[in-house]
Amino acid sequence: IKGVQRNLPPSGANVHVSGIRKTIKPEMAKIVKPPSKDEDEKAVSDNPEVNELMEHESMKNVDPRMVEAILNEVVQIATTDWDDIAGLHGVKSIIREIIVWPMLRPDIFKGLRSSPRGILLFGPPGTGKTMFGRLIATQSESTFFNISASSLTSKWIGDGEKMVRALFQVARLKQPAVIFIDEIDSILTQRSDTEHESSRRLKTEFLIQFDGCATQTEDRILVIGVTNRPQELDEAARRRLVKRIYIPLPDLEGRKQLVKNLLREYSSELSDDDFNSIAEMTEGYSGADMNSLCKEAAYGPIRDVCHLLQTLDASHVRPMQMKDFIAAHRLVKSSVGKLDVELYEGWDATYGCHV
Ligand code: ADP
Repeated sequence: IKGVQRNLPPSGANVHVSGIRKTIKPEMAKIVKPPSKDEDEKAVSDNPEVNELMEHESMKNVDPRMVEAILNEVVQIATTDWDDIAGLHGVKSIIREIIVWPMLRPDIFKGLRSSPRGILLFGPPGTGKTMFGRLIATQSESTFFNISASSLTSKWIGDGEKMVRALFQVARLKQPAVIFIDEIDSILTQRSDTEHESSRRLKTEFLIQFDGCATQTEDRILVIGVTNRPQELDEAARRRLVKRIYIPLPDLEGRKQLVKNLLREYSSELSDDDFNSIAEMTEGYSGADMNSLCKEAAYGPIRDVCHLLQTLDASHVRPMQMKDFIAAHRLVKSSVGKLDVELYEGWDATYGCHV
């Protein structure tokens, strides 16, 4: 009603209130009471979707500004296909069988076959964990909520736990839903004596909300925790994120595929042997490193003609060649250390999900 009260339309006009078309009759327009302070706080936003969500009983204690932030900044359109992720065939088949199929067909995958409510994706940075989150959301036809745990502490200082509650409530209303939480270790670390009171509250609220979802069998919400530091998770986190899936660095075939995918839209004179050589010289590179390498190599043909750049016809830029990759390889190095990989492999051997 706030919008109506503040900006009263001409009497008899049609207006939208929370998505419902209503006619303001002249007499109604006169008797509209000024909103109480409480109502004023609740009467919400210019976004009709926020207003619509706020009408649900379950949203009674949720701050509409948080709902607005969730819809604007956390909910994302996910349109990722299986082939967008190069290599990692083993990971894809685990994800297809234990997560996507059960989410698509909860009527078949129930009881013992039901999908997990929480999974963990762990591994070095830049290996495609976020891509897998988008892939799961796309393939399971779910709303994708993408939030970084550190933003809960930095952006919503002191209100992190309220934001967590709001996030789960909105996800319930927009299910099937995938809640993707990057850097989950920053919420679910082992408790220490020096832990800040607000982090403690945030962690407790997360566990309460997660357990609430897990016990509602009809809820179709999957929580995907993501971390580069799995060893920092405590037992409570491991118990809830029941399937812990290692997303490793790409292997030789994966790296070759990555370069082929990235060059798909560019002209290049690379032979299959060249692609093999690039894959061989990039042992230990992550997907993100491969991305940087290809970006650097893509500059090679431009550098050759930069003195003509003002007048050059774009069609005269030469195709990319092997020499561009050799030059790029000198500049772009792997960002993941061998010791780190050993740590991930060790943790995977103890806690990881294998088929
Ligand atoms: P993470 O979440 O593991 O840190 P991302 O999923 O954000 O990594 O990947 C970072 C970038 O690296 C992506 O935008 C993508 O371009 C590239 N990338 C990483 N791994 C792959 C892969 N297996 N296939 C295709 N692209 C990849």
